[in-house]
Amino acid sequence: MLKTLYKRIAEILTRPFRKHFLFLMAFFILATGPFFLWQFFYQHLLVNGILLTVHCFIISYVVTLLIGLIKPDVLRKVAQGILLAIAAISFAINFYCIFEMGYLLDADLARLMLGTNLNETREFASAMIPKWMIPALLGIYLVFIAIWVFSRKHQVNLGKNTSRLAMVGLLLCVLVNARAWKVWEEGPIHRIYEMTQYEVTDDLSSYFTHPKITFNDDSQLPADIVLIIGESFSRSHSSMYGYDKETNPCLSDYRDNSLLFTFDSIDSPAPTTAESIQLMLSTYSQANEEHPDGKKWFEYTTIIELMQDCGYDTYWFGNQARGSKKNGATRVFAEACQRQKFLQHEGADRFNVTTDMVLVDSSYQYAREAKPNERHFIIYHMMGSHFDYAMRYPKEFAHFTEHDYASQPEDHRATLAAYDNSILYNDYVVTQIINLFKDRDAVVIYLPDHGQVIYRDPKSPDYFSHGKKKNALSYALGVEIPLFIYTSPLYQERHPDIMQRISERQGKLERWNSDDLPYLLLDLIGVKDVGGETIRTKSMLN
Ligand SMILES: [Zn+2]
Repeated sequence: MLKTLYKRIAEILTRPFRKHFLFLMAFFILATGPFFLWQFFYQHLLVNGILLTVHCFIISYVVTLLIGLIKPDVLRKVAQGILLAIAAISFAINFYCIFEMGYLLDADLARLMLGTNLNETREFASAMIPKWMIPALLGIYLVFIAIWVFSRKHQVNLGKNTSRLAMVGLLLCVLVNARAWKVWEEGPIHRIYEMTQYEVTDDLSSYFTHPKITFNDDSQLPADIVLIIGESFSRSHSSMYGYDKETNPCLSDYRDNSLLFTFDSIDSPAPTTAESIQLMLSTYSQANEEHPDGKKWFEYTTIIELMQDCGYDTYWFGNQARGSKKNGATRVFAEACQRQKFLQHEGADRFNVTTDMVLVDSSYQYAREAKPNERHFIIYHMMGSHFDYAMRYPKEFAHFTEHDYASQPEDHRATLAAYDNSILYNDYVVTQIINLFKDRDAVVIYLPDHGQVIYRDPKSPDYFSHGKKKNALSYALGVEIPLFIYTSPLYQERHPDIMQRISERQGKLERWNSDDLPYLLLDLIGVKDVGGETIRTKSMLN
């Protein structure tokens, strides 16, 4: 009796080796391989690499064992097929991340991908995937397919005795893993766990706390505060910051007439869209991230709530994908505004990219009908210079061509020209938005969510996209952004104190992170403190 039970258990436990060995190995390499290979080849951590390999092997064994229990066989085969397909996709994504981004897929990057619509994915595929990568991946998949075909006629599973030996090996693995269990934090299960940890609310306004707002004695609320959130604009490509190509001709005119002010040494709080916007639009900050106080990001006071409490009508005009709730903060902020318009829809026009002038056209009527005594807080969320850069401007703005970049490597020239054209078009659109408000008591603030590396990292000379989080130089280059503040003649006349502070700060700012944007906006409308917190100390106009 006992003997039969022992035999039965041994039969089940050795099944992954005796019956599903190919699945076990394919899953081990495709689903978990990038994790331990990363430790060996990129982190150069031999011991950690071995421990993680052991950990990954146990995971793969358990998955194979459980899948092997499914009955009938047809169902089991379907389940194995689905799981292997998922493993193959995750392998491709991790393969890309390792070679192009310099790190494994993590929760931030997963959200970035989730926040991308089909159209952007298509652009991404054509712009960002190096040519060698697709044949390399196909080659790896082909090896597995060839072994699978081979296995239809020949035995690839382990025999009875080898399986017993493998079981002994597995037991040793379990012991090793139990002693160094912390290694799971580097592994695939922990990564999946992290990805499910992102919390978001359906309704930001249900967290509004309405803190007490005190104004400066002499303050007179301006009519309009316009916040333009740009996209992927690197300060290094603005002629207003010394770039040798004339990429900001229209805004320069405003600066020459003392209507627009530029500020140096500005960093965005993150190198990616959703994370940066989450930090920019609320009093939640990087400091809260590092020293968690138990509060979730959406429980912090947001600039949308505060502007509404100050009597401003809030309106969001967005030219980026609406996206799903789960992919980050942007949509949640937009929906906390009293009104919102998403101009870049997924749907029938998926492959028709709408350039940013749609923002001006769709808000023209709203701005024109504004009454002098009404107050508006308007947020424009631009497509800006989101890759693929060449798709961000109409052909009339294709001013720069490859010939203008003769001193640059040949395969960088087209991208540089497209990027600069997108900045040039951005200059035009931002000017048109400013013009909607030029006759009102208005301030227009332009700043992008983050910059781009644009071939400036000597360690990855062909890399141009978002700053890499795990590489200090790449990160620093990726968060370098410009900041423009436009003040209308009427605003200049009515708010001389703030104007003096703005012009004093221009060109003399030490360092400021747009994480503190709410404080700048509140300072510009004359708020002194919110819930006892002084505004001026964090506003860059201090
Ligand atoms: Zn972005």
